[in-house]
Amino acid sequence: MENNHKPIIGVVSPCYNEELVLPETSVQLNAIIADLVARNIISEKSFAVFVDDGSKDKTWSIIEEKASQLTHIKGLKLAGNVGHQKALLAGLLTFKDEADALISIDADLQDDVRVIEEMIIKYKSGIDVVYGVRKERATDTFFKRNTALLFYNLMKKMKVNIIHNHADYRLCSQRVLNALAEFGEVNLFLRGIIPTIGFNKDLVYYDRLERFAGESKYPFRKMAAFAWNGVTSFSNYPLKLVTIIGFVIFFFCLLMTGYALFALYTGNVVPGWLSTVLPMYFLGGVQLFCFGILGEYIGKIYSEVKQRPRYFIDKRVE
Ligand code: UDP
Ligand code: MG
Repeated sequence: MENNHKPIIGVVSPCYNEELVLPETSVQLNAIIADLVARNIISEKSFAVFVDDGSKDKTWSIIEEKASQLTHIKGLKLAGNVGHQKALLAGLLTFKDEADALISIDADLQDDVRVIEEMIIKYKSGIDVVYGVRKERATDTFFKRNTALLFYNLMKKMKVNIIHNHADYRLCSQRVLNALAEFGEVNLFLRGIIPTIGFNKDLVYYDRLERFAGESKYPFRKMAAFAWNGVTSFSNYPLKLVTIIGFVIFFFCLLMTGYALFALYTGNVVPGWLSTVLPMYFLGGVQLFCFGILGEYIGKIYSEVKQRPRYFIDKRVE
């Protein structure tokens, strides 16, 4: 590796059907790297790699073309679509030994590329993890902004250690990436894993921009699944909640039983169906809810014990 004065920096960007944004993103990232090299801030071996997550459009042929035209652009093609988190992991683990630090960034230019330099300066001053944090969410829809706020608050309540308003825009030093390589979980939630690794961290702030082109690959359904995965992978709080709900209901049932016995004793028995049928429905509902949460965790255990590989690499271009 190069010395700390001019480190090799790699930028890793997962892409799924990004033919509309890639021509622009590759040119921008290449220019930024070339500029930092020219100003002697980073090594000329620095690069940006696009990880094609099994795209169905022309993404890979664009990556191949850009890799041959632009000095600092590389490409990695996965065998199939594995999702943003695993595609990012594939890029990080494949290239961690070829750089002193890697920066992960979305391909759609929503993460402001101008803070890359700030991240590198912090890294050079000895910081291992630099988190990109969104200043405000003005460009997100009202709905996305508020569901995101709910998500971060929920995570905080459940004692999951994540950085507020940080998505997956961050720099990790090689030793952080080596630590990441030791996590074998299939249900990846990088925003939760990286803070648990530790080392010294810092934040840089940026404005989240509009998607450059194309559509979001994270519709509400996928966002909700992602958030739920984040909760269940890092917290047993929902299970605890089940226990608490169960206890409270048991307590009310005891009161009810006491009342029924008292009514029987005084001979004041009303043959009402309400008191019989309502609790039945109510308890049935609560039980199903609790089973559902238990089931989620069992499903998670199932997918983890299989220890399946998280991605396969098809090929790479330089
Ligand atoms: N992405 C991916 N695999 C997928 C879905 C998305 O690699 O299965 C990439 C996508 O190309 C983009 C990043 O993940 O670079 C974030 O996706 P997107 O911008 O659609 O999400 P949003 O910003 O709307 O949350
Ligand atoms: Mg996006």
